[in-house]
Amino acid sequence: MTTTEKLYEGKAKIIYPTDNPNILLSYFKDDATAFNALKKGQIKGKGVVNCAVSSALFQWLESKGILTHFIDQISDNEMRVYGVKIIPLEVVIRNIAAGSLCKQTGIDQGKILPFPLVEFYLKDDALGDPLLTKDRILMLEIVTEDQLQILKETALKINQYLIEFFNLCQITLVDFKLEFGLDQEGKLRLADEISPDTCRLWDQTETDPTGKIMDKDRFRQDLGDVESAYQKVQERVLKQLSVIS
Ligand code: UDP
Repeated sequence: MTTTEKLYEGKAKIIYPTDNPNILLSYFKDDATAFNALKKGQIKGKGVVNCAVSSALFQWLESKGILTHFIDQISDNEMRVYGVKIIPLEVVIRNIAAGSLCKQTGIDQGKILPFPLVEFYLKDDALGDPLLTKDRILMLEIVTEDQLQILKETALKINQYLIEFFNLCQITLVDFKLEFGLDQEGKLRLADEISPDTCRLWDQTETDPTGKIMDKDRFRQDLGDVESAYQKVQERVLKQLSVIS
């Protein structure tokens, strides 16, 4: 691991500068938080899994023409990324009802949604990442109406590519969160990570409703076997990447 001074430390990753001002190093930690950091812990080996899974999925998306911040993976838990100015929106895409959607709307967990739902939350821990409306986003001047439309269309495209990839891994993509940023040239790039921390993933080879959970819900709900579930995601994703590349 690098000994350079940190540029930024978040809940799951540390960002370090490199000799090139346009390139940053993203270090994936084992620290885990849930419920806006009210629940804290560690998932052994999580940094390695999330770095490997994110690297694989960024490569898959790049191969489909989606611009991402990913450059390369340089160690088990470090990747080089383009520096981007993060747009303070958490873009959540849902295919199946779970989590806060069920709590807030009363819809049954596991219901297949009639269309993929794209939601925008304000990326602000102090405010508890509130759900935004289109008008609130425009009022806050986070992005323009055109940019919002592009974000939504890009998120839906990414959803289709990820559903396709995870299906090949016999994993159902229930929902997930994306973050985007603007690079030096003002181009929109997918940033952050795509991992069992940021996706709900259900094992298609399992029928038991608890047994099939392969993501951070195992940690959130104290279901046990968190590490082995994460490992299983990594194994299947890496195997699939090697098949298609
Ligand atoms: N999510 C995330 N970071 C957040 C909030 C949500 O990665 O700060 C992911 C979460 O893992 C799930 C999806 O976004 O895959 C939808 O989460 P939801 O709104 O249901 O919230 P939760 O139930 O996690 O509170």
